[in-house]
Amino acid sequence: MLPYKNYKDKLEKIKKGELSLKENVTYFLNEIETNKHLNAFNFIFPDQAIEQAVKVEEKIKSGRQGKLAGLVLAVKDVLSIKGKPLTCSSKILKDFTAIYTATAVQKLIDEDVIIIGKTNCDEFAMGSSNENSAFGSVLNPVDNSRVPGGSSGGSAAAVAAGLCDVALGSDTGGSIRQPASFCGIYGLKPTYSRVSRYGLTAYASSFDTIGAFARNAEDIAAVLEVMAGWDVNDSTSSKNTVPDLSGNLSLNNKKLKLGFAREYFGEGLSPEVKSAIETVMEKLKKNGFEIEEISLSHSEFTIATYYILTTAEASSNLARYDGARYGYRSENCSSLLEMYKSSRSEAFGSEVKRRIMLGTYVLSAGYYDAYYRKAQKVRRFIKNDFDEAFKKVDIILTPTSPSPAFKLGEKTSDPLEMYLMDIYTTSANLAGIPGISVPVAKSSGGLPIGLQLLANQFNEPNLLKMSYYIQENIL
Ligand code: GLN
Repeated sequence: MLPYKNYKDKLEKIKKGELSLKENVTYFLNEIETNKHLNAFNFIFPDQAIEQAVKVEEKIKSGRQGKLAGLVLAVKDVLSIKGKPLTCSSKILKDFTAIYTATAVQKLIDEDVIIIGKTNCDEFAMGSSNENSAFGSVLNPVDNSRVPGGSSGGSAAAVAAGLCDVALGSDTGGSIRQPASFCGIYGLKPTYSRVSRYGLTAYASSFDTIGAFARNAEDIAAVLEVMAGWDVNDSTSSKNTVPDLSGNLSLNNKKLKLGFAREYFGEGLSPEVKSAIETVMEKLKKNGFEIEEISLSHSEFTIATYYILTTAEASSNLARYDGARYGYRSENCSSLLEMYKSSRSEAFGSEVKRRIMLGTYVLSAGYYDAYYRKAQKVRRFIKNDFDEAFKKVDIILTPTSPSPAFKLGEKTSDPLEMYLMDIYTTSANLAGIPGISVPVAKSSGGLPIGLQLLANQFNEPNLLKMSYYIQENIL
């Protein structure tokens, strides 16, 4: 067990000399070794992490430390860190080294976090179980026969197993929230554009976001506050000012209005998850929160819309891996065209290939109107539903995932069943709104269950306040 509650407590303890940062980092490195079977990390940086711990500890002792000094961070292997491998858990980038550092990561480094390693994930962040990785599957630390969720499964497992303090993930359709819920921790996806995507390997650019995993709401707030903000290197990043998130977690008697949508409690939802979420809603009502029913009437189209649009964007984004400029190049080719074909055929995994084919299909001349254009229109309807809902309520409560973590191999032969694991999370990416998964219960078999909170664009303050309230008063 770690002797501190959150990043603030950790910093205080280091300041008072009650905690040695070097020992803390050594502890994490040992834990990573002991939990090697989880396969959470693609790479670890032991020497650099220890060296950094000594430096940061000195800074803390002399009062010159950054906001997040001493926080031990793991980074999903889709984010660039200069001089470190960047594989996206794909054979096609097996030997690739990043040539610059992602803005979000750099901002954290500037506030004195210590990076301990890069975490395993589904190949190019495509998946819901972390079984699509060239580095092999990640195991759920709560039950090793089950998946940790995906695509940021390594980050979620690392935080849940106590192998680091916090971890970064990317969320295009639920890849932070769903693994957070499967592993029993907090996972937040910010508003689209809140955090610069510079240095995040593109999957579906109009959906991709960078967010964080932690064991408490305070650490999530602090990390998001540092990562957020406009960046000259990402023209889609927002110029909105970043509010004080970490210093402002209390609701101060402000009663936020909560909403629930019947569409998120229908067929396909496991009865245990349903009753866990309803129990939390009952407790919130008892504590004086008003919960109003709202309607998200286009919910039934979210999975189809998401998988048409993201595969379209992916097919374009992944065209750059052609064997010519960087990454894997096939030996078995005698012409340029053959080189493209063989390099991509040999080095992409089957889920990535499936998505490139689907995306190419929905964008092709004969089908563009029927699929891509139509899906763009439905995306607008889904966004409109949320706009209407947020006129009435501040936060929408939903399950994060229809079931707790499933068994390894259980859904690998049926892609559609796997895609349905994203039924409650993809809507936030379609609408560009922020969402968080809060661990609120355990199933009868001891598996974690997550509650998803959704807020309107740029309303991360309410999302974090409500998460903190639930953490402190409901659990
Ligand atoms: N599971 C979803 C997918 O496979 C979400 C992935 C993500 O958010 N990166 O696309």
